[in-house]
Amino acid sequence: MDESEGRPVGRRGFIRDAAVGAAAFAAPGKLMADETETHSHSHDHDHDHQDVPPDIALRVRALESVLVEKGMVDSAALDEIVDTYENRIGPRNGAEVVARAWVDSAYRERLLADGTAAIGELGHLGGQGEHMKVVANTPEVHNLVVCTLCSCYPWPTLGLPPVWYKSAPFRARAVIEPREVLSEFGLDLPEDVEVRVWDSTAEIRYLVLPERPAGTEGMTEEELVEIVTRDSMIGVARVETPSGGEPGGDA
Ligand code: FE
Repeated sequence: MDESEGRPVGRRGFIRDAAVGAAAFAAPGKLMADETETHSHSHDHDHDHQDVPPDIALRVRALESVLVEKGMVDSAALDEIVDTYENRIGPRNGAEVVARAWVDSAYRERLLADGTAAIGELGHLGGQGEHMKVVANTPEVHNLVVCTLCSCYPWPTLGLPPVWYKSAPFRARAVIEPREVLSEFGLDLPEDVEVRVWDSTAEIRYLVLPERPAGTEGMTEEELVEIVTRDSMIGVARVETPSGGEPGGDA
């Protein structure tokens, strides 16, 4: 997927992502723009994001250079951190938490009672995720996570936040008109489903425990991990019954 020589390019990708995120702050009106690009392939494509003010990217680069030059930041350590969150930690960790909760009701109880401890059982705690609260979707309640102030997000369970999550329109509208926002993500909730919006802070981060979709009774925990999406754990999507496969077969 990647013809880069690894870290330095990865870091450039990170800087570009940071700049795109910053641009999103400055460009209200676009909610979901070119969202998944950031995580799916921005690291190997060559074209420029035209809506990125170059001065922001330059400022980020200049800041990094100064910090490295003054010995305040070790560039190898910085590369390591970026590589960790870009390539080794991602929504799969959160998916493991969700799948475990779906197959193990005792774990589910622990998870909802003390998210931090239960996520820690699976080894998915860390910076930007030290204090976790898990909120469960039910047929009556749908949970949506936002950070109205900035972009607080549970890195150890979901990786780096998508661009739209950091965008001003999402941050504002998620609390003002959550149903409309969800509808734009393709999730139309019946009127009788209560929507709860959770505002993340530096102190506490949220993870949505989506409902286990019908027809997955025969799937193993490992198979379930594969169908849990990042968006479902932010609350802008449901987990869908996998198509194609014969759900409920012999596990
Ligand atoms: Fe924030």
